[in-house]
Amino acid sequence: MSLTEIRDRIARAERAADRPEGDTTLIAVSKVQPLERVEAVLEAGHRVFGENRVQEAQGKWPALRERFEGVKLHLIGPLQTNKARVALELFDVIHSLDRPKLATTLARLAQETGACPPLFIQVNTGEEEQKAGVLPVEADTFIRDARAMDLPVVGLMCIPPVEEEPALHFALLAKIAERNGIDGLSMGMSGDFERAIALGATHVRVGSAIFGARDYG
Ligand SMILES: *Cc1c(COP(=O)(O)O)cnc(C)c1O
Repeated sequence: MSLTEIRDRIARAERAADRPEGDTTLIAVSKVQPLERVEAVLEAGHRVFGENRVQEAQGKWPALRERFEGVKLHLIGPLQTNKARVALELFDVIHSLDRPKLATTLARLAQETGACPPLFIQVNTGEEEQKAGVLPVEADTFIRDARAMDLPVVGLMCIPPVEEEPALHFALLAKIAERNGIDGLSMGMSGDFERAIALGATHVRVGSAIFGARDYG
């Protein structure tokens, strides 16, 4: 599959949902991908990318940014507090604010540096033990607390359980966002981004459908 094809499918999903074309930001998830695949997508003109590990992004993107202007980098994976400072320098948007300790750390760094990238709060909609994110019942309080710390909360993010219908999780995330007056919804990946757009996704995170399968070997 190609970038053009994914863009077409996004546009079709937007039309089907009566949403304006271009309403959805496509985050090309480049983690683990060979450099030449990432370069090909950059050369095709795409500029919004997602990485799930701070260290991997640090090793890859500073050099690419020197060659390609206007890159926007989104952190979509878990953030350890000891990497928060580096993450604030490297990323334009963070999708994984998922616990009080990270909120406190980000707030402190934001005060110190006078800047903080827009933040998405990750919600563990499937209440999975092994998954990051605040539980749905804790979300309203967590959002309120983060706002009280002056953190720029722009959206919510979720990764539905693999074996469940994602639409239920997208709908739940949209409901939590709506009752808290939050506009951004980071939801939908290669297998389900059209369903996410139908339910209001503002950001879809698409990796393998653009770049091909990831080779962790
Ligand atoms: C890897 C990853 C994606 C992209 O997954 P694909 O199925 O390859 O599209 C999206 N979101 C997060 C949080 C990821 O870690």
